[in-house]
Amino acid sequence: MAIFEPRDQIRAMVGYHSAQVDVPIRLNTNESPFPPPAGWVKMLTDVAAGIDWNRYPDRAAVELRAVIAARHSVSPENVFVANGSNEVLQTILLTYGGHGRKVASFEPTYQMYAQIARVTGADVVVGERRADFTLDAHEIERLMQREAPSVTFLCNPNNPTGLVEPRENLEVLLEHATGVVVVDEAYAEFSDWSAMDLVSEDRALAVTRTFSKTLSMAALRVGYVVAPKWMIAQLEIAALPYHLDSFKQAATTAALGFTAEMEERVALIKSERSRIESTLAALDIEVWPSGSNFVLFRPRSKDAQAVWADLLAAGILVRDCSSWARLEGCLRVTVGTPDENSAFLAAMSSAVA
Ligand SMILES: *Cc1c(COP(=O)(O)O)cnc(C)c1O
Repeated sequence: MAIFEPRDQIRAMVGYHSAQVDVPIRLNTNESPFPPPAGWVKMLTDVAAGIDWNRYPDRAAVELRAVIAARHSVSPENVFVANGSNEVLQTILLTYGGHGRKVASFEPTYQMYAQIARVTGADVVVGERRADFTLDAHEIERLMQREAPSVTFLCNPNNPTGLVEPRENLEVLLEHATGVVVVDEAYAEFSDWSAMDLVSEDRALAVTRTFSKTLSMAALRVGYVVAPKWMIAQLEIAALPYHLDSFKQAATTAALGFTAEMEERVALIKSERSRIESTLAALDIEVWPSGSNFVLFRPRSKDAQAVWADLLAAGILVRDCSSWARLEGCLRVTVGTPDENSAFLAAMSSAVA
């Protein structure tokens, strides 16, 4: 085999696909529709000027980990920060996955679990959700007993379905898990419960969060995990030295002074979410109840791809999930500003008329 051929796992893959189309209304990647607080943006020039640019960053990100730890009432040794929660997931998989090990998820769910697991050499094993996308506790037990995975992911609320996972399902998973359990809480602020209070030194549970969604900082690429101290120490072995640049550390530390302002918008997003859900349902569209900042729906009267194209023609981009396994006919819309949502709902009404 020629040496410029990629590894078998990579050759079999297609990579991450989410259209980056230049349209007026982008409701396809679950970002916040609002810019971050102006006060923070103004601070950034001072933050940049204060960096020792000739020096490597603080490898342990001491200050940043301290402010994140305070936010969750844990110790800084319970926190690992990375370039987006995707890098957190990758570090977890480099540490606990890899060749000869199994990584589990319950499908349909966030595609990056399987993607990163494969890229890092692990075998992917899959539990199935019911047709309505809820998860049967018996399926959790069966998958753990049959496969004994080294890492199991639970996304709560789940992307792309938006469903909130019942707490009992996590309890069943923790009881039967053979390896590390990762609860991905990218959308925690929109949900009614968090697994954060279950993190403890005697449990192999890791809870991940991101600045990309509620906190309006998708461009900054910051995510983190709260986990037992022993697990954080193991993740640090797998992480690259100086992976978190000095500007990002300082900018993120500064951002944590503005979280109240950013979280104020959660109530507005939730009320807009209800408006989207009820308006779509009134158009005779199948809608899944969301605990997140997006809504999964399935048009009944018209093909999903045709609806997606009609929306695009109206300058609105949503996520086309219709070709994904188990999501036949489904589209996903991110809650935008009230005006964006009104434009989306008007376009939907014409599309399915
Ligand atoms: C958006 C999202 C993330 C966030 O990834 P970042 O790398 O932090 O931007 C992680 N998990 C899920 C389920 C998501 O939807």
